Amino acid sequence: MAFTCDQYGRSRSGTAIKTVTGRTVCRSCDDRTTGMAAGIIAAGGSQTSPVASGIATAGFFERLRKRRRRD
Ligand SMILES: [Zn+2]
Repeated sequence: MAFTCDQYGRSRSGTAIKTVTGRTVCRSCDDRTTGMAAGIIAAGGSQTSPVASGIATAGFFERLRKRRRRD
């Protein structure tokens, strides 16, 4: 089923995921957003930039996913 990913702004195939903010995104964008949110929460109150930490965490989630796929 095709849908428009609000993150990419273009048509995607596969599973559409509705976020808590009401956006429709693809699976990979949802994972990235979840990773970022987790990173920002984890970094709360620390000296590092919450946004930078969130991006780093999102990358971590992507690596984790790729590793699982290889196993
Ligand atoms: Zn997407």
